[in-house]
Amino acid sequence: GEALRLEGVRRVYGAEGNQVVALDGVSLTLPAGSFTAVMGPSGSGKSTLLQCAAGLDRPTQGRVFVDGAELAGESEAALTKFRRQRIGFVFQQFNLLPTLTVLQNVTLPLKLAGRKVDRGRARGVLERVGLGDRLDHLPSELSGGQQQRVAIARALVAEPRVLFGDEPTGSLDTRSARDVLTLLQEAVRMFGQTVVMVTHDPVAASYADSVLFLADGRIVGHQPAPTAEAVA
Ligand code: ADP
Ligand code: ADP
Repeated sequence: GEALRLEGVRRVYGAEGNQVVALDGVSLTLPAGSFTAVMGPSGSGKSTLLQCAAGLDRPTQGRVFVDGAELAGESEAALTKFRRQRIGFVFQQFNLLPTLTVLQNVTLPLKLAGRKVDRGRARGVLERVGLGDRLDHLPSELSGGQQQRVAIARALVAEPRVLFGDEPTGSLDTRSARDVLTLLQEAVRMFGQTVVMVTHDPVAASYADSVLFLADGRIVGHQPAPTAEAVA
């Protein structure tokens, strides 16, 4: 089935007379279990696309559907609930809570969603990302790559319909980046996770199934991802 659909999404920032059209009518359907890289020059609308698709921002015009349900909550509270139930998000700077342990960071989304705080489940996801032995560490005690793997575990623990990443490997060294990309790929291949990731890096994009190209707030291409050999 379809995991994500955008219909004519337009996002205009700024006040009358001083407006920036960040997205200019973006329509798109991504099937469940797909891994999509979003590329394009700085300012082309990549972050805005992700934020509108994830319910972190509201389109000025157009509609967003996640798993067939329209992301149009009348209230902020409804939108927040929608996000907590259906969306995972991973940021370039990890955004872990510094005073919480690894395990506490990963159980937090369950708590916020009003679900059972299942530590066994959180531990299982942390084992999947190779951090089963770091449960009681603080984020500051981990490398950047390890912190991003915690962030991925946190994003996956509530089994989101779509996992979004905004430059998830943008502040990692080559090796850590590869580990994170491999994890995302495994989530897609083994668990049917849908992943949408903004990246500047053609090597990172080669881990995806397809690449969506943006320019000036429009989709200007959507094609199969290049092979790793082609970008090496
Ligand atoms: P990148 O091009 O790598 O996404 P930018 O520095 O262009 O990084 O933007 C980072 C974030 O800052 C954007 O995602 C957006 O939310 C915000 N931003 C960008 N441009 C503006 C702007 N003109 N006014 C306010 N916020 C902006
Ligand atoms: P990208 O992620 O491709 O760099 P963005 O989505 O961050 O692009 O930005 C698209 C356009 O929208 C840019 O011109 C940027 O300056 C503008 N923009 C983004 N966020 C804001 C904001 N909060 N306020 C004003 N302009 C913004």
